[in-house]
Amino acid sequence: MFDKLKKLVDADSISGYEESIQDVLTQMLKKHVDEIRIDKMGNVIARKGKGSPVIMFAAHMDEIGLIVKYIDKEGFIFFDKIGGWDERILPTKKVLVHGSKGPVPGVIGSKPPHIQDKDESKKPVKLKDMFIDIGAKNEDDVKKAGISVGDFITRQGSVDRLLGERVTGRGFDNRVGCLVMTEIAKRSDKFKGTAYFVGTVKEEIGLIGVRGSAFSINPDVLVALDTSIAGDVPGISKPEVPLTIYDGPALDIKDAMSIIHPKVKKWVKETAEKNKIKLQFDVMSGGATDASVTPTIREGIPSGALNVPVRYIHTPIEVADMKTVENAVKLGVKMLESAHKYF
Ligand SMILES: [Zn+2]
Repeated sequence: MFDKLKKLVDADSISGYEESIQDVLTQMLKKHVDEIRIDKMGNVIARKGKGSPVIMFAAHMDEIGLIVKYIDKEGFIFFDKIGGWDERILPTKKVLVHGSKGPVPGVIGSKPPHIQDKDESKKPVKLKDMFIDIGAKNEDDVKKAGISVGDFITRQGSVDRLLGERVTGRGFDNRVGCLVMTEIAKRSDKFKGTAYFVGTVKEEIGLIGVRGSAFSINPDVLVALDTSIAGDVPGISKPEVPLTIYDGPALDIKDAMSIIHPKVKKWVKETAEKNKIKLQFDVMSGGATDASVTPTIREGIPSGALNVPVRYIHTPIEVADMKTVENAVKLGVKMLESAHKYF
């Protein structure tokens, strides 16, 4: 699974520019499903089996990133954010600018500490003052590299192993969810019914791709496979975020936009208990997943989200536990096998 995760993360794809991840996910899902297509919005829709119940898994394929806003005469690139960034972490990061001639490496520059005055060193740099240096001598160099306004920018960063089953990298939100989904597709031969495995687009900028795909599939139940915030690090208290990266996947009970459908809660909880799979419960004051918006599609689709808790989410050094990823897969497979009792 580690190599698969690496492949998924390496397919740079921010919201709105999901072509590379569409290809990678299609290749990974193809061999395990009966039918696969890409809809008008770019969602990857795979179907396995037929008849009822109809279960839809949705894993968003996009990741947060940046976008070229302005190129100055000296060849520095100014940018805007795509998705929820903590701006303070941006300076000194390595990025890739995806121009018409392929990705161009660059760095987000910053003023050395030696020449910062007292006030400057205490205040975080504002987004409008940040710039990317690709090594260009002037504006013309940037254009020659194939870069223009509106091009997307991703964070550079490899996926690496830490101690034990822990891994670190960028884009775990939500390539981890994509990985869980492909593994469920692979191991779900016993399921009698229709399972849809959908890689959705543009989740990070407003839960966009899932709306049309859920409307057209019209499933009996929808489960978003995503990531959640782990609080098992210094600086976050237990009451604030009790989730750990190692106590199993987390069922999203409540987030900023939605509350889980009671039937979905019962189904996931009982299936985890019966199969002795670790499960955590996530009561969030902020955040949302694809499953937060699908209760408003058609007459309402019973929905819930099963998330893998991740440390340092939305940074280039997210940390996850592969044992939890495996538990999320196991639970997803068992949920399919018990689905007919609930839907
Ligand atoms: Zn996500």
